[in-house]
Amino acid sequence: MENVRVRFAPSPTGALHIGGGHTALFNWLWARHNGGKFILRIEDTDLVRSTKEYEQTIMSGMKWLGLDWDEGVDIGGDYGPYRQSERLDLYKQYAEKLLDEGKAYKDGEAIIFKTPANQDISFDDIVYGRVEVNSDGLREKDSDKLKDIVIIKSDGMPTYNYAVVIDDYLMKISHVIRGEDHISNTPKQILIYRALGWDVPKFAHLPMILGRDKKKLSKRHGATSIYEYRDMGYMPDSVFNFLALLGWSAGDDKEIFTRSEAADLFELSKVARRPAVFDFDKLNYINQEHLKRLDPLTRLNMVKPFWIEAGLNVEEVEKTRGTDWLAGALTLMAGRGRTAKEMAEFSDYFVSFEPVKKRWTPDENLDKAKLKEFYEFIFTAQEFKAESMENLARQWVEDKAVKMKDYAMPLRYALTGMKVSPGIFEVAEHLGRDECKERLKFFGLM
Ligand code: GLU
Repeated sequence: MENVRVRFAPSPTGALHIGGGHTALFNWLWARHNGGKFILRIEDTDLVRSTKEYEQTIMSGMKWLGLDWDEGVDIGGDYGPYRQSERLDLYKQYAEKLLDEGKAYKDGEAIIFKTPANQDISFDDIVYGRVEVNSDGLREKDSDKLKDIVIIKSDGMPTYNYAVVIDDYLMKISHVIRGEDHISNTPKQILIYRALGWDVPKFAHLPMILGRDKKKLSKRHGATSIYEYRDMGYMPDSVFNFLALLGWSAGDDKEIFTRSEAADLFELSKVARRPAVFDFDKLNYINQEHLKRLDPLTRLNMVKPFWIEAGLNVEEVEKTRGTDWLAGALTLMAGRGRTAKEMAEFSDYFVSFEPVKKRWTPDENLDKAKLKEFYEFIFTAQEFKAESMENLARQWVEDKAVKMKDYAMPLRYALTGMKVSPGIFEVAEHLGRDECKERLKFFGLM
C-alpha cells in the first residue's frame, strides 16, 4: 500500500500500559509492513495531568518494546510540531474558519461546533466492519436537542475530538489505528472532517483486551505497565510477540516470531474484533521460547541483572571464569525458567556456592561413606567430562546392583542445592573438578 502514515497518539498522563503498547505496536506493524511512516504524537492538552516525565517513560517504553518511529517530538519531522500543546495556533485557525462559515459558535471563551441535523454518518472500519449512525442520534441526555461539540474550551485548549481531526488531517494520516473505545468518537470526528471539507482517513479499531475473567484488563489483573514486565524478567522480544498475538494471528499456528517476521506477515484486515484475552501462561510460554532461541551472550546479559539483584558477585566470577563460561552455564539451562528472573534463580549455584549452602539441609539417612566411595570413583575419570563420569557411574551401579538415582540425587543436591537441574554430570563438568570437590567436601561427601 502506498503512503501509509499511521500514528500513536498517547496522552502523557501515565506510563505506557499494555493497551497503549498494543496500539502502538499495531500501528508500527502496519507502517513497517507497508514501508510507511510511524508517527508519535503527544496529546498533552490535559495540562494538569500531562507531564514531560510521562512523555519520556512512554517513549522509553516504546523503545524497550523495539518500536521506533519516523516522526515525533524528539526527532521532529515535516509535519510538526508533534506535541498538541505546541499546535494551539493551528486549532485556533480552523476554529475561526468554522466560526466564519457559521458551522461553529462562541459561548463565552469556548468555541462550539454545531452538530448538523439528520446527517448519515458511516465508515467501514477495517476491523469492525461498517458502522452507520445518524447525527440525530447525537443528542443531549434526556432531550431532543442535538448535542453540539465543544472544540475549544474556555481555557483556549482544544478538545480531543477536534484536535485529533486537525492533526490527523495535517499530518496526512492514512489509517487511524486505535483502541475500540474510540469507535463511539469516530462519528463526531467525521462530522468535523466534513465541515472542513476534508477526506476522512481509514479507521481500524483494535479489539479490547480482557483479563482471564473476561473483564476489561485493569490493575486488578496484575501488572499493567510495560515496565513491570521488564522488571519481572520478560524479554522485550517476547512481550512484543505476545502483544502482537492479542487480536491477530500470523497463521499456520506460527506463534513465535521476531519483529521483522511479524511486520512481514501483518495484515490489518486479519485483526479480529473479538476481545483478546491476556493469558499469562501464553506469555510465559512465548518468553521461554525466546529465551531458548537467544544467543548465549545476549541471554547472559538478560539474566545477569537478576543474579546481581540476588546479591551474587557475578563480576568476580566473570573475571575468574570468563564471560563465555557464565554464558555456557546458561546454555546448559536452556529451556529451564520461563523468565530471565526464573532462569537466574534456577542457576544461581553456577555463580556461587553460598546459596547452595543455604538451601542444603542434612539428611540423617544419608550413607555418607557409601556416597563418598562412589563420588571418588567417578572423579577418577581422567578427563572431567560428563560422559566419562556417566560411564563410570553406570559401571558402578551395575557392579553393585544399586540405583543410579540414589547416588545422582545427593550429588545434584550437594552441587546445586536443588532437586531439579540440568543433567548433573553436565553441571559437574561445567563447575569443574576442583569446585565439585570443594562442594562435596563441605558436605562431608568426599
Ligand atoms: N490521546 C488519545 C488516547 O490516548 C488518542 C486516541 C486516538 O488515537 O485517536 O486515547
